[in-house]
Amino acid sequence: MTTFETLNLNEKLLRALKGEGYTSPTPIQSQSIPYLMDGRDLLGIAQTGTGKTAAFALPILQKLLLDPKPTPRRGCRALILSPTRELAGQIHESFRSYGKFTKLTSEVVYGGVPIGRQFRALNNGVDILVATPGRLLDLVNQRAVQLGDVEIIVLDEADHMLDLGFIVDIRKLVGMTSSRRQTMLFSATMPKDIAELASAFLRDPARVEVTPVATTAERVEQKIIFVDTAHKQMLLHKLMEDATIDRALVFTRTKHGADKVVKRLEEIGVRASAIHGNKSQPQRERALADFKAGKLRLLIATDIAARGIDVDNVSHVINFDLPNMPESYVHRIGRTARAGAAGVAISFCDREEHNFLRAIERTTRQQIPVIENPLGSGLGMPPQPRVKGAPSTENPRTTRSGKPVWQRDRPEKKRFDGPRPAGDAAAPRRDDQARPGQHARPARQETSEPRRWNSGTSNPTAERTEKPTREGTVQRNRRFGR
Ligand code: AMP
Repeated sequence: MTTFETLNLNEKLLRALKGEGYTSPTPIQSQSIPYLMDGRDLLGIAQTGTGKTAAFALPILQKLLLDPKPTPRRGCRALILSPTRELAGQIHESFRSYGKFTKLTSEVVYGGVPIGRQFRALNNGVDILVATPGRLLDLVNQRAVQLGDVEIIVLDEADHMLDLGFIVDIRKLVGMTSSRRQTMLFSATMPKDIAELASAFLRDPARVEVTPVATTAERVEQKIIFVDTAHKQMLLHKLMEDATIDRALVFTRTKHGADKVVKRLEEIGVRASAIHGNKSQPQRERALADFKAGKLRLLIATDIAARGIDVDNVSHVINFDLPNMPESYVHRIGRTARAGAAGVAISFCDREEHNFLRAIERTTRQQIPVIENPLGSGLGMPPQPRVKGAPSTENPRTTRSGKPVWQRDRPEKKRFDGPRPAGDAAAPRRDDQARPGQHARPARQETSEPRRWNSGTSNPTAERTEKPTREGTVQRNRRFGR
């Protein structure tokens, strides 16, 4: 099995990944990282939610660490182009998180905010620059930045950039970089335009394609309960008072955790059994047979042991611990609502699991409804912020054709080949106009108060809001980890 260690990532990056709670690479990561660390160009067909940001961010950080150089004046060593400022902000945050134990510097620039502070921020150069194409071109034209020293360039969500009419800007920007650069292009789809762009920019690229994780089983009613770790078992006992929970699969993260849950259930007279890697084959078979026969109300399982469990009429899946991989969540809840039946998935979420919940909601593009903790309020805190703009599964926003908005048809490709007349209402959206529903984080200048993040999560926005320099401008070339 591929692990981050077997990918030969630098120890500083491994430490940061551990802090993020990532235990193993996602498919796009395990497939792309070896090619990228070999210096190959890459054509990645992957959607947001597959872990593609780390797939390009980790090899970039690794390369810059292995070949330290002074930052080029008014330049950068790695450039990431993103279609919207929201995505640019997220990518920058990811670089800061994965690179927090390094001294590499980064900046993000996008439209819709004053350009002056970006001028100053780029004056001494940075290692990594994340930018939307329109604003970057403005900065280049005003000589705030030059791209001659770019060693690595990433075109993220290339199909979306084309939709937004950035093709001319992108061609210009890529044309300013050296032909010796390493190039990566990521796109969720591969229409003709993108294939042409790829053949123009990429040299003998490795091609990596990952299919998006299955959309969350639609019949499953999903719920979240925020609860402190110490009260999870009590919460499970409380749920057992609900007679509609007649056959439930309970997932824990560890084998030891599964055994503990069983022991404490038995103490209150609830019949349960655990199924995990430390159980012998006969023990596992017996537990599964009893569960199937309805002799056991609860089966406690770990992810690995649950693979291949196929039991009809599982009324509930209970995530005693949230999985750290969004894909596992989708697989787990798919154990209920089988064979046309309805099903409910209830997930317990403690403070440590807020990031896992955010990743799940981003991947499934849903906001899971929160239900009140039946043990009483104050025993669990919701994360700040939850994924904004993700539709609730209770009340999904739909398009006119009745499809959920995240499944809407993509708009027809718009070409933009010349200067745009001022005030042209039909002009394609630019980076200062986020496409509705896409990365619908509120615009930075519209945020009335600093966003709060959990400790340990770096957030440039909050830092900027809270720590202005004396002149009231952002601190420049902020180093990771400070
Ligand atoms: P992305 O596709 O880059 O937007 O990533 C989607 C989500 O998956 C983000 O919330 C990441 O933090 C999370 N993620 C990325 N890689 C991993 C991993 N190897 N293990 C667990 N979560 C991950």
